[in-house]
Amino acid sequence: MPSEQELPQPPGPEWETVCRVCGYDDGVEPFWEHGWPNEGALCPCCFNEPSVSDISVMGLRNYRGHWLGQGAPWSSPSSRPKDWDILEQVKNIPPEWR
Ligand SMILES: [Zn+2]
Repeated sequence: MPSEQELPQPPGPEWETVCRVCGYDDGVEPFWEHGWPNEGALCPCCFNEPSVSDISVMGLRNYRGHWLGQGAPWSSPSSRPKDWDILEQVKNIPPEWR
């Protein structure tokens, strides 16, 4: 995590820091910015890559279903909070991507 870098502007509608697939949100790194995928931004939770797995509702539902079917494993287990609650996290998913 870059700590000395200036933080970007606060998230807005054109600034998606929430993973469309799993609802993960670090509040800093955008997955989508002004409608463009932030290439290289991989979700540390479900391993979603913007524009690859989340470009359509159908596509990301498939991806989400597969991921949940595996037991919702973290792609980066060290990023997983101790008190992680998947049911709380999926509430972050924007309604249009559920
Ligand atoms: Zn995710």
